[in-house]
Amino acid sequence: MINDKKTSALATPTEQIIKTPLEIYIENNPGRKRRIALDMDEVIADVIPKFLDYYERDFGERPDKSQWWGKKIYQLPNAAHIRSYLQDEGFFADLPVMEHSQEVVKWLCEHYEVFAVTAATEFRNSLRDKLDWLDHHFPFIGWQRLVLCGDKRIIQADYMIDDHAWNLEHFKGKGLLFTASHNLDEQRFTRVDNWLEVRAFFEWELEKSGQ
Ligand SMILES: [Mg+2]
Repeated sequence: MINDKKTSALATPTEQIIKTPLEIYIENNPGRKRRIALDMDEVIADVIPKFLDYYERDFGERPDKSQWWGKKIYQLPNAAHIRSYLQDEGFFADLPVMEHSQEVVKWLCEHYEVFAVTAATEFRNSLRDKLDWLDHHFPFIGWQRLVLCGDKRIIQADYMIDDHAWNLEHFKGKGLLFTASHNLDEQRFTRVDNWLEVRAFFEWELEKSGQ
């Protein structure tokens, strides 16, 4: 009789409605597609124009690309303080989207599990901005697949697309280095210069795997 009561209690409607939105999402998305860990800054979000804006505000002139190409803008003489603006509320809220990234990521989401993985926790004010930005520009990824982290060595996936070599160094899957001003000399990883090259890479991957 006692066991019957327990069984009966577990089956009540009250028990059934306490599933979290994430539990419901996982139930509705079974199966295993290969997984892509997709960086945000300098991969789908372009931080360069905002850094240039801050530089121009502080120094009275906008540096020419020839001056900063090959380094970070805050590595220009006397510009180290510009990195601290990453801590500002709103810095990440209105960054431009990298050309072709929306259409290609949307296509990738049809064939892969795409997670946005961003080393954001160093910048506490970026967390809400990044969530809102992704929701606005990449709603097909969704909050369930946004990973706000610090050290990306915790990330397991089949592919990682990132502009920083240190994130790819310990990655166990296939790393793609997205070309950025600061990584031009890096030779260790498969390089993609833009989002059309990302699409071409994954078209070839799908063709090889017969999908
Ligand atoms: Mg990045």
